[in-house]
Amino acid sequence: MTNHVFSVPMRTRFRGVTVREGVLLGGPAGFGEFSPFLEYDAQTSAPWLAAALEAATQGWPAPRRAEVPVNVTVPAVPPEQAHRIVREGRGCTTAKVKVAEPGQGLGEEMARLEAVRDALGPRGKIRVDANGGWSVTAAERAIVVLDRVAGGLEYVEQPCATVEELSDLRRKVDVPIAADESIRRVDDPYLVRDRDAADIAVLKVQPLGGVRACLRIAQDIAMPVVVSSALETSVGIAAGLALAGALPELPFACGLATVQLLRDDLVHQPLLPVDGRLPVVRPDVDLEALTRLRPEPAREAAWMHRLAEVRGLGQDRGS
Ligand SMILES: [Mg+2]
Repeated sequence: MTNHVFSVPMRTRFRGVTVREGVLLGGPAGFGEFSPFLEYDAQTSAPWLAAALEAATQGWPAPRRAEVPVNVTVPAVPPEQAHRIVREGRGCTTAKVKVAEPGQGLGEEMARLEAVRDALGPRGKIRVDANGGWSVTAAERAIVVLDRVAGGLEYVEQPCATVEELSDLRRKVDVPIAADESIRRVDDPYLVRDRDAADIAVLKVQPLGGVRACLRIAQDIAMPVVVSSALETSVGIAAGLALAGALPELPFACGLATVQLLRDDLVHQPLLPVDGRLPVVRPDVDLEALTRLRPEPAREAAWMHRLAEVRGLGQDRGS
């Protein structure tokens, strides 16, 4: 197996970092991306490795569709900027709008949603993402207002932090609720289902252990799924598209249009949406990019050490 450590600069700071790093694992089926966030320990990173190994050694199940609709993401920006982001959103007819930003109030959120509705037109879909920032009371109040201002919300993503709060809120509002941050490990989707805490599950391939693992979860929990990225390069995004392509039903646009956040990419043809859609393809890795984006030796050594540590974990368990 050939491994390549990469370090891709980001356009905007995210999770306190300005580069997205990881390792591409090469195998008989192609390249898989292993890019757990830097603060994750070996145990937490184990499913991320399983996802990369699946991509490199097995490949993915045959898709049921050739394209996947994706959403444009609007950060907690002023209305004019929100309007522009949607207008320049590569034809996306679904917008995900950030709300519950610390230091901002309902007034700013209302103005942002009005601008987004204006830019999308009456037929576009709007969902909001609170990243767990509201209490149940605040969420209840905000959702009623924002649903009206937006001319109908498709759903609200992670309005509160805990599964208990989601479950409580879900009984008080009519807008569907999606669980995102509440689903970080393989057991989490089952907890969300068992507590009746959400109408929709946001699934990400790397943290949940691969495309097949996610298909199994989707089948078990019997909830509509939105496939989202973990801010991968196009190599990792291709795995998300394989999942979205293979799901029996795909009622919502997916959160896979994120390579725009990176300044560079590891493939010849980055997975950027056209007419609001991404093709279910596996782009060829650009060997020159692997050289260009190879980090300094110390970073490379740190990642190889990390990879060995996570691999060792698998061997300890005899898997
Ligand atoms: Mg989210």
